[in-house]
Amino acid sequence: MKINNLFKEKKVVYSFEIFPPKVNDDVSKVLDTLENIRDISPDYVSITYSAGGSKNSRTKEIAQIVKNDYGIEPLAHLTCINSTKDEVISAIDGLVDIGVENVLALRGDRIEGKVKSDFAHASDLVELIKSRSDMNVVGACYPEGHPESANIVEDIRNLKIKIDKGVTHLNSQLFFDNDDYLKYLDMVRLAGITVPIEAGVMPLVKASQFGGIVKMTGAKMPTKISRMYSKFADDPDSLMEAGIAYATDQIVDLLSSGVDGIHLYIMNNTYVAKRITDNIRPIIDKLNG
Ligand code: FAD
Repeated sequence: MKINNLFKEKKVVYSFEIFPPKVNDDVSKVLDTLENIRDISPDYVSITYSAGGSKNSRTKEIAQIVKNDYGIEPLAHLTCINSTKDEVISAIDGLVDIGVENVLALRGDRIEGKVKSDFAHASDLVELIKSRSDMNVVGACYPEGHPESANIVEDIRNLKIKIDKGVTHLNSQLFFDNDDYLKYLDMVRLAGITVPIEAGVMPLVKASQFGGIVKMTGAKMPTKISRMYSKFADDPDSLMEAGIAYATDQIVDLLSSGVDGIHLYIMNNTYVAKRITDNIRPIIDKLNG
């Protein structure tokens, strides 16, 4: 199923992002994760691609398992900047061959010291995918602006190029301040971008996340989260509960504001995904009638 159709059927789409195992890791842990995800039943699951630049990503393998063994629709991430055109073509054709219908077309992060690439922007990848396949193409967007952009206006102008090449919906970078996100949505809509946008929410439930992935994205930390961290950094159980409560509250506010969807960065933690889903599922089901 092409997931752009979900937005025609539902007021709110609810999806998860997971990451595949490393090249030499046993797949069984991910199978446990998928078993639990099937019980939670998100609308689809997206699978990251070689974050960090490695080309040996097991995204395709996991997408195939997600689709065929678990009956969940996969959205396979694909990056381009650290690969040659031939490598990217082979990755696109590989996804088509196994019946994947949805791909998140990403530029990818630049690897230090590597400058030459056949691709400059995600829009180049969107164009290539559209020229070779009938896959539904999704894109990424940045509510606080992409870190390399001079300003948010320039970033939204560039986003429009990606949409015009055929992106049917956007998944946002994680953020913690809903007011910033809602202002961003207003700007994007003013720029004539009308595709559905899912809000990226990452539950902060472990102290390591504060210095790791969150720092990497440069997301702004509201005072409320900084206080939570200061108080509970050395108390894992309380930090877990506080993080679940914060993410729940954030999602309820986003749903109250009429967002098109919630894309939960679950970091393969299905305990957290289930707790949050139990909190918000009745509201989402009611909204979807
Ligand atoms: P682009 O859309 O190309 O944008 C990158 C920068 O270039 C922006 O500053 C933009 O304004 C500018 N730009 C774009 N088009 C033009 C143009 N035509 N002319 C001039 N400037 C332009 N990384 C991974 O490695 N693996 C993953 O699985 C992964 N998943 C992600 C999922 C989501 C939802 C998000 C938000 C990010 C993800 N990333 C992932 C990170 C992503 O690869 C990086 O943020 C990367 O730096 C930008 O990718 P992009 O596709 O947004 O790039």
